[in-house]
Amino acid sequence: MLYVKAPAKINLTLDVLFKRPDNYHEVEMIMTTVDLADRIGLEPRADGLIKIISTDRFVPDDERNFAYQAAQLLKDTYGIEEGVSITIDKEIPIAAGLAGGSSDAAATLRGLNELWKLNLTLDELAEYGSKIGSDVSFCVYGGTARATGRGEKIEKLPAPPNCWVVLAKPKIGVSTADVYGGLQLDNIKHPNTEQMVQAIRNGDYELLCASLGNVLETVTFKLHPEVITIKEQMQRFGADAVLMSGSGPTVFGLVDSEIRATRIYNGLRGFCEEVYTVRLLGERNPLA
Ligand code: ATP
Repeated sequence: MLYVKAPAKINLTLDVLFKRPDNYHEVEMIMTTVDLADRIGLEPRADGLIKIISTDRFVPDDERNFAYQAAQLLKDTYGIEEGVSITIDKEIPIAAGLAGGSSDAAATLRGLNELWKLNLTLDELAEYGSKIGSDVSFCVYGGTARATGRGEKIEKLPAPPNCWVVLAKPKIGVSTADVYGGLQLDNIKHPNTEQMVQAIRNGDYELLCASLGNVLETVTFKLHPEVITIKEQMQRFGADAVLMSGSGPTVFGLVDSEIRATRIYNGLRGFCEEVYTVRLLGERNPLA
């Protein structure tokens, strides 16, 4: 069995620039991986089938699973006869804005590249990833990057200044399509992405905190007011900066001291079942 780590991402910024003729939104996002990860196990099968095994009953076990789609794509493209059993140990909350499914697909691409000795580069794997979902390309590389286009054009950035990240997910799942659908493009307060890039390049933690921004927040807040409550609690307990990740509903707080991170974690546990304290991974993933 080959094991591959599939880490979650958070959005330090998420901006929507315009709606394209193909109906996708043109986005600009700064994303970074954190050490909350699913574990993907890959085991060859002689019968040629792709099977998904997961302990989490909300993870689809058929071709709807992004990891399944990743295996199918490589299998078809390279005429691989053997099959694979894909075990998904789910740690990343589902439909949370943390790209769990996309990261599982990316880890499957990286792992099968080894298992099937395809010798593909990360750029080639990211290209395949973009056919599965907009966030899969980023997850192939991991680390920290600016993503543009639909999210599939990746420009690598250095690791941000290290800090603790407290993640809190209210007990609701958010539909990314509903959130994008509710966005009013003529009434957006755009984040300062260039300032965020500068903060990362200069290792400036205070500027990074001041530059967080996500245009989807107000839409998700309207659909699910409990997300605002979590954000306010996180601020009240003393996070240096707080933002919703992706289309939500996960909210994260940045803190530069472990003691304060623990205090926020303990405070939030009273309001929210799913709370995690994690570190930024910062750098790119190794190949698998
Ligand atoms: P993003 O941040 O990229 O918008 P997300 O974190 O909001 O993603 P996911 O956890 O990826 O959302 O799940 C979204 C949907 O994708 C789920 O409702 C589920 O049905 C489907 N899905 C497909 N493959 C997976 C997988 N491997 N793990 C979890 N969900 C998956």
